[in-house]
Amino acid sequence: MGSYRIVERARLDARNTFGVAARAPMLVEVADVAALPELFGYAMLRDGPVLVLGGGSNVLFAGDPAGTVLALGAQKIAILEDDGERVIVRADAGVEWHALVLWTLGHGLAGLENLALIPGTVGAAPIQNIGAYGVEVRECIHVVEAFERSTGQFRRLDARACAFAYRDSLFKREPERFVVTAVEFALTRTPALRLDYAGLGDELAAMGIDAASLNGVGASQVAEAVCRIRRRKLPDPALLGNAGSFFKNPIVPGAQADTLKAEHPALPMFRGNDDATRKLSAAWLIDSCGWKGHRDGDAGVADTHALVLVNHGHATGAQLLQLARRIAGSVQERFGVALEPEPRIIGSAW
Ligand SMILES: Cc1cc2nc3c(=O)[nH]c(=O)nc-3n(C[C@H](O)[C@H](O)[C@H](O)COP(=O)(O)OP(=O)(O)OC[C@H]3O[C@@H](n4cnc5c(N)ncnc54)[C@H](O)[C@@H]3O)c2cc1C
Repeated sequence: MGSYRIVERARLDARNTFGVAARAPMLVEVADVAALPELFGYAMLRDGPVLVLGGGSNVLFAGDPAGTVLALGAQKIAILEDDGERVIVRADAGVEWHALVLWTLGHGLAGLENLALIPGTVGAAPIQNIGAYGVEVRECIHVVEAFERSTGQFRRLDARACAFAYRDSLFKREPERFVVTAVEFALTRTPALRLDYAGLGDELAAMGIDAASLNGVGASQVAEAVCRIRRRKLPDPALLGNAGSFFKNPIVPGAQADTLKAEHPALPMFRGNDDATRKLSAAWLIDSCGWKGHRDGDAGVADTHALVLVNHGHATGAQLLQLARRIAGSVQERFGVALEPEPRIIGSAW
């Protein structure tokens, strides 16, 4: 039987990177996931809403969560298989994501380098299929280990079963169904570097590394370049509350994209989920509506990045949500494009 600790009326202010006030009726800190079958035997967890909370870097508490909040603490990282080239690494859900990236690089393993410095935990990484600098985590996911609430069973889901898409997965679509307990990653000893994302080559060059010839470029150098760019571009949640990008890049039909491109030639767009769709830059759309640096009291938009909503001090989640809705409304009105929030909004509908 595993161990856990229960805190009633637990404050969540320090458990979300927006730093907004919220309280959970009950917080269960689970040290060992072997306790999950027992815990989900209790009526409140079995029948009521349960929010699994990692680092709180992709949630907005617009109100208090209605039910139990579950936090997983297990911290183990281990190599499961190693054939000299392909290596399977398993990390518990509670491991800090960037700590895992550093661990893999320290063991000479490539695959996660472009995803360096993303806040949060390993358990949350598959939820929205975290992505950055041209790479999505699904490309390295071997198996997601999860506890399924409806059956009370521990399950192993391969990448196909997780139904990953851009900032999306089975877990995001069915948020009450699974508790992710660990993730297994398939990594390589020979790096297949991905340097095509704008700015990465320039950053390596600024570090004195020749990205074109790949001379001296290893996975660790790529991770270092990614960290340097991220530190420059994104506000540090420890200093200015935020949840990274607040909106997903919208995916629209090709015909709509062509019309928009004709009217706004500077609008950046990329291939969507398939050849028939295009992904538009949400940052460009929001910036064009004049929101960068905007402030409504303590709820604001970062002045370095139009996609990032920030808490200048004492904004409530509801105020941040209201600002987000105004931004989405103005983009809809001006461009006819619907923006969708990336973080999970708790305590209110979008
Ligand atoms: C400065 C900054 C930069 C960011 N940059 C990026 C980026 O480049 N790319 C990117 O993709 N994201 C980015 N994010 C968003 C965020 O870091 C990621 O989504 C991250 O994976 C969230 O991890 P977390 O542990 O904080 O999850 P939380 O915010 O705690 O939870 C997020 C969601 O996952 C669910 N969840 C968490 N753990 C589990 C679990 N074990 N089992 C089941 N469900 C779970 C929660 O219920 C919730 O729905 C950024 C955020 C910040 C603040």
